[in-house]
Amino acid sequence: ALSRAVEQRCSHYPLQYILGYAHFMDYTFHVDENVLIPRNDTEILVELVLDILSKEKSLPDYSVLDMCCGSGCIGISLKLYYPEIDLSLCDISKEALKVSEMNLKKYNVKAQLFESDLFAHIEGHYSMIVSNPPYIEHDVIDTLMPEVKDYEPRLALDGGQDGLDFYKKIILDAVKHLRDNGYLIFEIGYNQGKEVCSLMKDSGFRSVFIQKDYAGLDRVVCGHL
Ligand code: GLN
Repeated sequence: ALSRAVEQRCSHYPLQYILGYAHFMDYTFHVDENVLIPRNDTEILVELVLDILSKEKSLPDYSVLDMCCGSGCIGISLKLYYPEIDLSLCDISKEALKVSEMNLKKYNVKAQLFESDLFAHIEGHYSMIVSNPPYIEHDVIDTLMPEVKDYEPRLALDGGQDGLDFYKKIILDAVKHLRDNGYLIFEIGYNQGKEVCSLMKDSGFRSVFIQKDYAGLDRVVCGHL
């Protein structure tokens, strides 16, 4: 088994898929080839949301949708820090949702699961929508490291020609699925801050700002209705 693992790793198969788990925030999430491996960069988004939740007065009424949940690492972490929130997880991939379900069971956490192409099967209204959607420009994917381009799901990476396909679609529909003052919070690529901010402002979001990651790169965009 060890020599098999060494062989796999030598062909750039990601360590986290070999182990079957990845660390994220204070937790360990199951992963397999159907989900993106949780990134440290994404912890910036979670920390920003925790900061917002810490100031929220009516948490039992607070509903959070993790759109494009993959392993569920974002939504499930939030629920583990703030068990009062009402959590929903959505992904287009049935296989990804199975991984999310394993992670919910692992931590004994409850959430509504939606198998849906973005908002196609979503009817609810949420206090907050968080999303780390696919955002790599289509033509850039093949220049990425083999661990990513050869083994992580294309479905979870490919943001279309300009990388912005999912931001455009999610922003348009989020407006219809957020409560008054509801928050929309995205992870973004380092070169997407300006465009995602304008898209959000054009759709009526207020107080839109960019949060940088520890490398000093634009990483999260946040705004509210
Ligand atoms: N939300 C998951 C993560 O942050 C999956 C993101 C995705 O599939 N694009 O890891």
